[in-house]
Amino acid sequence: MRKTKSNEKVESTTRKIKSRPLLYQHEIPITRITKFWDGLIEGKIYYTKCKKCGEQYYPPQVDCPKCLQRDVDWIPFSNQGVILSFTQTQLKPQGFTQYTEPYTIAIVETQDKVKVMGWLEKAEQPNVGMTVKIGSRLQPDGFPVIIFTATD
Ligand SMILES: [Zn+2]
Repeated sequence: MRKTKSNEKVESTTRKIKSRPLLYQHEIPITRITKFWDGLIEGKIYYTKCKKCGEQYYPPQVDCPKCLQRDVDWIPFSNQGVILSFTQTQLKPQGFTQYTEPYTIAIVETQDKVKVMGWLEKAEQPNVGMTVKIGSRLQPDGFPVIIFTATD
């Protein structure tokens, strides 16, 4: 029950229950960033750099929001970086429940000073500051992912 400005009591008539979770899947237009997605399949991860002002973008953008130019260079990341943060996923979100084992997601700063999120593998004791090799591959479900492999 709530009250109005005149302190009149009003019954609330809106009852709510939660629905079951719904899977929502949509198509993502990638025509202008095809190089990024093709690169992931080939094991290369690209960022873009504006040819006019030099601003770097990851995820890649083909229109520079800073100077409004459409002319960018596609630059592959160096294949090494350092872990800035990580978390081990025990409860998988919708769309990832096919992974039966826990997996680790990390944020890595590349040697190009770009921050990238991906899956951390072969790191028994991951820690911040650990050096990793950066790559990518297609998962068995057909989605390309960025993979970090511990080198320490
Ligand atoms: Zn620019």
